[in-house]
Order: sequence, then C-alpha cells, then structure tokens
Amino acid sequence: MFERFLSKDVSNLRSSEIRDLLKLTEGKKVISLAGGLPDPTTFPVEEIRKITDDVLREKPDRALQYSTTSGITEFKKELVNLSRYRGISGINENNTFVTVGSQEALFMIFNLLVDPGDTVIVEMPTYLAALNILRARKPNFIGVHLTQNGPDLDELERKVKESISNGKKPKLMYVIPTAQNPGGTTMSLDDRKRLLEIAQKYDFLLIEDDAYGFLVFDGEAPPPLISLDKEGRVIYTSTFSKILAPGLRLGWVVAQEEFIREMELYKQNIDLHTPTLTQMIAMEAIKRGVIQNQLPLIRRVYREKRDVMLAAIEKYFPKEARWSRPVGGMFVFAWLPEKVDTVKMLEESMRRGVAYVPGSSFYHDYSGRNTMRLNFSYPTKQELEEGIKILGNTILDFLK
Ligand code: PMP
Repeated sequence: MFERFLSKDVSNLRSSEIRDLLKLTEGKKVISLAGGLPDPTTFPVEEIRKITDDVLREKPDRALQYSTTSGITEFKKELVNLSRYRGISGINENNTFVTVGSQEALFMIFNLLVDPGDTVIVEMPTYLAALNILRARKPNFIGVHLTQNGPDLDELERKVKESISNGKKPKLMYVIPTAQNPGGTTMSLDDRKRLLEIAQKYDFLLIEDDAYGFLVFDGEAPPPLISLDKEGRVIYTSTFSKILAPGLRLGWVVAQEEFIREMELYKQNIDLHTPTLTQMIAMEAIKRGVIQNQLPLIRRVYREKRDVMLAAIEKYFPKEARWSRPVGGMFVFAWLPEKVDTVKMLEESMRRGVAYVPGSSFYHDYSGRNTMRLNFSYPTKQELEEGIKILGNTILDFLK
C-alpha cells in the first residue's frame, strides 16, 4: 500500500535476496559464518556497568541532557588522545566529530560529497553497507580489485586515467586500508604512500575507513593514511564497535575543520547529536584505560579464532581455492574455482547447516560470483572447525 507513496530516494532500497535467505537461519541450528558480530566475551561488562553507575551518580544533569552536535568537547579531546595511539598527530578537538557508529559517519560523508553521476572509486570487494549508501547516491563507480596486499594500485591508476580521458574525473575513493572487510587485506606502508600520491596527482579525496585499525593482532598496524597526509585530502572514520561494544553505537570522524563544520550542519538535520550518555561512557572508558587494557584480550581471542579458521580451510577447502590470511579484523575472504557460484550454493550450504555471505554482495557490479566472506569473530572455535568442514565438503560436491 505504501510503495506508491515512497520517495525516489528510498523506493529502490530493497532487501537483498541473500538477506532473505539468511533469515531462514533464524531459529534453526545453523552455524553462521555470515555475520559480523564481535565476540561478546570481549565486552568489558563489569567496567561499563561501573562507569555507567559513576556517570549517573556524579554527572546526571550532563549525562541525561541534550549536548552539542559535533560531540562533547571533553570526549573529543579523548578521541584526539586515542587517535594519537593510532599514530594520528597534529589534530585537535575541532578536527574530530562524534557519530552514531561509523555507519552514520559514512552515510553523512557520502551524502555530503556525492551527487548522482559523480565518479567514485571502491575496492572490489568492499564493505557492503558502505556500498549500499553509495549506491543510493547513484554514482558512476570505478572498481579496483584487491590483491593479497590491498587495492591493485596499477589498476587504480590505469582506470583513473581512463575515466578522466572520458571526461569523468573521480571525486573520491572509499578505502579500508587495514584488515579490510571483507577482503582481509592490509596495505603496506609503501602502498599507502603511493595511494596518497595518486590521489594528489589526480586530485580526489580519500575516505579512510579504519574500523579495524585497533584490531591488528599480527605485528604492528601500519599507520593510517590520514597520518601520512599533508594536504587534508583524507577523511578518516573509526568506531567503538570493535574495541568496546557495538551496542553503544559510537563512531567518530577525523578531518579538516572545514569539513567538520559541514558535518555539523548536516547532523543537526539527522539527529541533533549522538546520545550524551554513551559518549560519556566511552569517554570514561578511554580515561580509565579500559579500552587500552581490553585490546590485548580482544586481539588474542581473534588471533586464536583466525588460526582455527585458517587451519580448517587449509584442511577442508579444495586446493584450487585461495583465501586471505588477515593480520587483523574479523573476516577471511575466499576465492573459489570459477565453476562454483556461491549465491547458488548458499541454499544447499544452509541446508547442511552452515551460512556464509556470498562475495558478490561486496562488489559494486555484483561480480565475484565465486567468492565468499567467512566470519571468525563470533562463532566458537568448535563451530569454526565444524562449519568449515561442512562448507569444504559442500564446495567439493559442487565441483563434481
Ligand atoms: N566499516 C566497516 C569496514 C565495518 O566492518 C563496519 C561494521 N561491520 C562499519 C564500518 C560500521 O560499524 P559501526 O557502525 O558499528 O561503527
């Protein structure tokens, strides 16, 4: 009944065929490698309970009141401190902006910057929810494939040149340089520098999604693009979802003050401000060192689970398959032999008790039909081993 009344902007937001399929898992005993939830055993529950108690006892008038659109100043100062921990220096609270998860940050950034027909560059594959926000802007997409080390920069430069010679100058690139979701890739320092040079040479913005920047468990995380940027070309976003708790719905942006002011005007129209109470909880969590103390545990849990998943894949997947070996984050991405269509295989896989996300969802052009994303953060180790075994056998049967 309402369909004919919907605005043009939302009338093409339709539930995907895959999301509908995955709904079938609800209430059934299916091992889900499809989700993207953090392991709840990594939530610092007691610390958050104590902080919430203290905040409500000591500062109830502030915590329960309206607050400023860009975020509480004291919290933004803590974000500056947290950013320093990630290698970002030379910024102050006027360069930071608090959002309802990094999802809202991406929504705002793309809506502030992209008009229909604008040329935007994305990785192939890339984060589905960001892609969906972009799709709604109706841009002209340029896709750049991932190698084992992040986006193929030769392909990027070639496609950018080609696009410019066709009169379509790219405006921005959305990129997840560290522990990419879904690709599981991490760019080297040299590639980061080269990407910045390319962006400078052809004059486009870089939207850097650092959702997993604090979640690198093998070695040191390379510095984010924004820490190498001398021109203010990078707009950076990260989130508390993976380092504290996603239910708090807190993310943030670091960018030039000029852009932050645009965000402020826009957010006034969306939701006035991010909830004051959750900002104060996260602020105390930084001040009391809760996040810094929790990170080694989170990294250890995910490293162990990643190892279980990779060992099982090695054992049960066909030899012709290849897959990422992520140094951080929550996902492994697999490229199967061309013959396997992972969209078609999903129903059978779920019938056998395992769900995954077909990789084509993460490609702006729905290619990558032989790929799949596998989550290792949420299932237990037993489920990971069992799930990959079932999945491996399903793939082998599909190859017959
Ligand atoms: N970016 C990436 C790459 C993600 O994986 C996620 C969460 N899955 C987000 C952004 C959004 O996270 P949130 O809105 O919870 O901050």
